[in-house]
Amino acid sequence: MLTPTLSKLLVLQDRDSKRLSLEAQLKAVPGEIAVVEKKIASEKAAIETAKAELMALESKKKMIENEIGSAETKLGKYKTQQVQVRKNDEFKALGLEIEHTEAAIAVLEGQELEVMYAIDEAKKKFADAEAVLKQNIAGHETRIRNLREREINLGADLKSAKDEVAAARTPIEEPALRVYDRIAARQQPVCVPVRGNTCGGCHLRVSSEVESAVRGKGDAAGKLATCDQCGRIVWWDAA
Ligand SMILES: [Zn+2]
Repeated sequence: MLTPTLSKLLVLQDRDSKRLSLEAQLKAVPGEIAVVEKKIASEKAAIETAKAELMALESKKKMIENEIGSAETKLGKYKTQQVQVRKNDEFKALGLEIEHTEAAIAVLEGQELEVMYAIDEAKKKFADAEAVLKQNIAGHETRIRNLREREINLGADLKSAKDEVAAARTPIEEPALRVYDRIAARQQPVCVPVRGNTCGGCHLRVSSEVESAVRGKGDAAGKLATCDQCGRIVWWDAA
């Protein structure tokens, strides 16, 4: 038993719910774009980290090579000196220096080898990080482009939804609109059917006064009835 006012309110509610849904979708878009931008940033950061690691290893290798170079120069000098000395203890002392220097060079060469393995690993990591971004960037960019397009379309849809809401409000009497807006400010949906004495919004039983009102009987006939539990506008649904 829908009164003309209720019929108009249901049209308004339908358009309002469309508007609310569009508003929620539109509000979510910047967050969705931010998620994709964060992914791009983290993939780029992974490349930068791998690059920095690789550069650090390269300079460590260079340092070790320099140390090996100067140790070898020293070794050459000791060997030349050893050939020239006459005294036995001097010869022995230089022999010891040569031994130490050779051992030091062996240690440095071991370190150099380790760094070279690490460089290979770092190069692989760097290439992998680049491959990840290369593989994903087009998808990320498409996603952002689609989201921006969606934002524009939602904005346009929202504008027409608002126009439709305004058009639906025009024929409704002021007191009914006031009741509707008061309820809409705190809960959705605003207008719900009553079926078998139960409110379709809060699912609680409505009082017999409300039931009479919604069924269009007695004094309350024709008035806008609200659920005495949740305050929503109720209408009788015989189905
Ligand atoms: Zn209720």
